[in-house]
Amino acid sequence: MAKILTITNQKGGVGKTTTCVNLAASLAATKKRVLMVDLDPQGNATMGSGVDKHDLQHSAYELLTGKSTAVDAIIKNPKVGYDVIGSNGDLTAAEVELLQLPRREFRLKAALSPIIDNYDFVLIDNPPSLNLLTVNALAASSGVIIPMQCEYYALEGISSLIGTIDKINQRLNPNLRIEGILRTMFDPRMSLTKDVSSHLVDYFGDKVYRTVIPRNVRLAEAPSHGLPVLFYDKNSRGSVAYLALAGELIRKTTQELKNSQKAEQQE
Ligand code: ADP
Ligand code: MG
Repeated sequence: MAKILTITNQKGGVGKTTTCVNLAASLAATKKRVLMVDLDPQGNATMGSGVDKHDLQHSAYELLTGKSTAVDAIIKNPKVGYDVIGSNGDLTAAEVELLQLPRREFRLKAALSPIIDNYDFVLIDNPPSLNLLTVNALAASSGVIIPMQCEYYALEGISSLIGTIDKINQRLNPNLRIEGILRTMFDPRMSLTKDVSSHLVDYFGDKVYRTVIPRNVRLAEAPSHGLPVLFYDKNSRGSVAYLALAGELIRKTTQELKNSQKAEQQE
């Protein structure tokens, strides 16, 4: 069964979409079966995966509002190696429509359940806010990846995000946990970066990924070509970093599986 991961942070511009697209491509490059779900009406992850958001027959909007199934909404995307459920401006309407629908927090979870066995990982990109779309993502996921820029205000935002995860945990999804904190646009020459980074490690311990994503212009350029950086400049520092992140995520996942099997045997 797929591991479903939400990439979120209420702050905009921290590297959520960049992480979603490039982690999806990197996992796929290691032969994992990956589905990327774009839940941001801006549709940047869709476009960044080489899918035209203006040209979607079935998008995340139709999926959430029950107008189409996951099988219909999934776009096979061999060019980048992973499948995509795309989004565009229509998704803003979903928020309002969802309010009227039964089990409105669980629409995504229910919609994905028939196809979940076809994948190893499902990655969900989110808008920079906590709305019903993000709640749907969190209710469907087992883990949250939080991209963070190591700057002063970053820590402020994170405490409210942790509060939200706690609430979702209690009310909607007891399985949800922080999968990892990812330091993005990392510049080790800046002393503030180093300070914030060491605070993060003090507070979150091994939840902080060892892999850091450097500031790298190739990562910023790749979306304008509709490509993950791996297909735009595979030797760039950005590309190497996201491949390393995929490796770290896979190792952690394998280790967790072993631990839980051991625990089951001991019971
Ligand atoms: P979010 O989805 O959190 O709003 P994005 O992933 O869209 O953030 O990133 C914001 C901007 O920063 C984009 O223009 C993106 O191309 C750029 N960017 C993201 N990560 C990096 C990086 N590691 N190095 C350089 N530019 C980056
Ligand atoms: Mg984004």
